[in-house]
Amino acid sequence: MNQSYTKAERNHVECVKRLPCSVCDQPGPSAAHHIKQSDAFTVVALCEDCHQGSHNGWHGRRAIWDVKKMDELSALNVTIRRLME
Ligand SMILES: [Zn+2]
Ligand SMILES: [Zn+2]
Repeated sequence: MNQSYTKAERNHVECVKRLPCSVCDQPGPSAAHHIKQSDAFTVVALCEDCHQGSHNGWHGRRAIWDVKKMDELSALNVTIRRLME
């Protein structure tokens, strides 16, 4: 994790990791995918498959993202909505 994060930013990332996957709804704990590495409030909760999976993952071929018609910002929207619930 980025050492320059404030306490509030680190706390936010920890809260996001407890959420279900923002793409496929698999229960947490999830990985925290950073849309922008330096910005803690751009983290998205993703399961291992939707994050790093070679077929489905954002860092792979993004198959499930295409099926669900999602991008990073729509996944961020789901993450933030769930945090506010
Ligand atoms: Zn997922
Ligand atoms: Zn990532």
